[in-house]
Amino acid sequence: MCGIVAYIGPREAYPILIKGLQRLEYRGYDSAGLVIANGGLNMYKTKGKVSDLVEYVKDQKTSGSIGIAHTRWATHGEPNQTNAHPHYSQSRKLAIIHNGIIENYSSLKEELIHRGYEFHSDTDTEVLVNLIEDIQTNEKVSLEEAVRIALNQVIGAYAIAILSVDSPDTIVAARKGSPLVIGIGKDDYFLASDATPIIEYTKNVVYLEDEEVAVLKRNEELKIRNIKNKELTPYIQELEWNLHELEKGGYEHFMMKEIYEQPRSIRDSMRGRLHAQEGTISLGGIIDYEQKLLHARRVIIIACGTSWHAGLVGEYLFEDIARVTVEVEYASEFRYRNPIIDEDDVVIAISQSGETADTLAAIELAKQRGATILGICNVVGSSIPRATHAGIYTHAGPEIGVASTKAFTAQVTILTLMALRLAELKGNIPKSRFMHLLAELENLPNHIEKSLNNRGIIQEIAKRFQDVSNFLYLGRGYNFPVALEGALKLKEISYIHAEGYPAAEMKHGPIALIDENMPVVFIAPKKGIYEKVVSNIQEVKARNGKIIAIVTEGDEHIKKIADYVIEIPETEEFLIPMLASIPLQKLAYHVAILRGCNVDQPRNLAKSVTVE
Ligand code: GLU
Repeated sequence: MCGIVAYIGPREAYPILIKGLQRLEYRGYDSAGLVIANGGLNMYKTKGKVSDLVEYVKDQKTSGSIGIAHTRWATHGEPNQTNAHPHYSQSRKLAIIHNGIIENYSSLKEELIHRGYEFHSDTDTEVLVNLIEDIQTNEKVSLEEAVRIALNQVIGAYAIAILSVDSPDTIVAARKGSPLVIGIGKDDYFLASDATPIIEYTKNVVYLEDEEVAVLKRNEELKIRNIKNKELTPYIQELEWNLHELEKGGYEHFMMKEIYEQPRSIRDSMRGRLHAQEGTISLGGIIDYEQKLLHARRVIIIACGTSWHAGLVGEYLFEDIARVTVEVEYASEFRYRNPIIDEDDVVIAISQSGETADTLAAIELAKQRGATILGICNVVGSSIPRATHAGIYTHAGPEIGVASTKAFTAQVTILTLMALRLAELKGNIPKSRFMHLLAELENLPNHIEKSLNNRGIIQEIAKRFQDVSNFLYLGRGYNFPVALEGALKLKEISYIHAEGYPAAEMKHGPIALIDENMPVVFIAPKKGIYEKVVSNIQEVKARNGKIIAIVTEGDEHIKKIADYVIEIPETEEFLIPMLASIPLQKLAYHVAILRGCNVDQPRNLAKSVTVE
């Protein structure tokens, strides 16, 4: 979540900050702002693009050689001018920019309100800057010290930069979970979320580590301490990447970058919601509607495309874990088929962009008929969250690649949390089993990290099948939606025709297609009805189809039958959709690359489908 740029040195800060923000635009954002310190703290911010900020600042006072700037991708509060960063502290003596999420912001905020603080924005960030100010005033400590004390009270993820009227030649910066790089010039310092805004000025950089606080002071050496107050020696590295490589984090395409971001984006989706140690789940966004959801006559999930596949996984999750009845519908069908729906139903609308036209229209219809509508969206303040009664943001961060990857797994993460929360309320899972499920969910990003190392085998498979005209994807139970999503990914970016089917349905039709030219991808982990899936694999094998199987690590049995296997770590069955869909994203990616396709912007597709 999104961009930070800061500068201190002998030059004019404004042009460096603006250029830096423009270099970070690729990360996606909804508003932008900056502060230049020159006597006071001159703040300018606006909704929209960096170019809107430039227009807004035109003719205003921007001179000064120290400043901080930000592009925001809203997580707490709508993307409007008030919520845009920077944020002043109550006294206006401090200004902060922040990327990330402060998990415990609401309890901190309550305490600060109690102590007389007033808040102007809906952000978690404004809480942090006031917390720092409160500490500084009460404990009479330096800015750096106050930041350190505050960060010890904060739970969550942050990259921050702070200016203070009282220390006009200093920027204090810190990170945990969100990246931050310091550029070391001849007599100046640069600070940014990645090195793209820095590279044209200097190649010498220090990557700040988690829980480190840096003090960038004019004409002084860089100082870094961790939040436990231990002094550290900055490790200066030389940048090797060029600008183009840097924007994509060293990946060739946004899609691959986003695929590899999934351990982080899933952690962000769970942040503040999953409390595995305590054995609880808190979903603040829908807290007032939990009983309604629990006692709904039916839950109807409406969505389109990849979000619809997430919805199908949701159906398995809700029914299996929470024993709540679910139907999943294409929004475009739902809206025109005169559905039976009333006030006893709960509709869950899923959309990455929050702007999907068919889903919006379906929401309006369900609303007119009295249903309760909940949303699961990635873009804060978009149309769907505004049209629903309540909802949960996925916090996957901006997704730039048109083919959805990390947004899909984030949607499934939220549906998993919802199903587990309903089970918690119902008390239908024994406590020890429930604790185990939460621990497995918490551990999922580690499993994903591990399984992302399978590039070699996936590239080999892609090479072997790059020229085929058809692919079949088969799975059962939880893995049927994974088969659908795997096929959709391949279609979207490689333009190879692909079908997803429930594995047992194959013999009712698609089996006629199988010959020695047909690759069949099986999602066949050692869980659920494993033996039955193995039989389905044998049926394909008997007709000379080529078998690619996603299997549980160490599955020697399928290894003997399949032409290729991709291993995933062993986990609980309900978590396999997330784990298994990632190698399928990678397979689609590598096939598309070999076929010379534009993976980030596939032909005929749009990121946000705002027409019906
Ligand atoms: N949580 C902060 C907000 O909503 C920061 C978002 C960001 O990372 O851009 O304002």
